[in-house]
Amino acid sequence: MSSHRLEVQSCVRVLPNSLRLGAREMVSAMLPTRAYTEIPRLSPGGFQRPHTEPRAALVVAAAVADVDRFPAANFTRYPVHTTSEALRLIETARPRVVAIDWDAPEIDGVQVCGAVRKFPHSGLLVTMASPQHAPAALKAGCHAILLKPFAPNLVAGRIGRLSRELPTGSAGARAAQSLQCCGTNRVWPETSCPECNTPSATSFEFYSYRRMWYACLACDAVWLGPRQE
Ligand SMILES: [Zn+2]
Repeated sequence: MSSHRLEVQSCVRVLPNSLRLGAREMVSAMLPTRAYTEIPRLSPGGFQRPHTEPRAALVVAAAVADVDRFPAANFTRYPVHTTSEALRLIETARPRVVAIDWDAPEIDGVQVCGAVRKFPHSGLLVTMASPQHAPAALKAGCHAILLKPFAPNLVAGRIGRLSRELPTGSAGARAAQSLQCCGTNRVWPETSCPECNTPSATSFEFYSYRRMWYACLACDAVWLGPRQE
């Protein structure tokens, strides 16, 4: 019998009868130290894998109440609520993706987009309630637009897609300058604006299986047209 065990028993002996059983049960319920190290191995998830590389950063520029609409499990999320906070975090966190709520009153979307586009390896997702704002966001250089209301898994999917599709390296940096490098934007040279007839409409979001949203960057018109793949 170990000296430790004896010590415990002698402590138990001096307790009043009514407490003895409880104290004994408590002692026997304690697992040997080794057992705690065994638990991760025996649990269904197995050992937690060590983090070999830090998780990519995601800056969410949105009003306080809306931050939870931007879940992203595989990113370290930095919520910001004003233009100046956003500009600071973009400089310091070097995010892989920046999500901007175009409707947030304290955030100047055009200014934040401009700051993000200085870093060619950062993806830029804009969410908005009205498609009428799409031409401004596209001209500011956003890679993808998501119209509200959206399901949380949809925004998480778009953020993940931007992160995967955004090219790396110096050739990628040049490609990322294009509006349609990644995400859902696409330029259609044959599609002309119904308002001003300028060709090369930009599609920025799907509406249904049959239609999608288009924007004209010449006159800021926005319309629904047939879906093209
Ligand atoms: Zn037009």
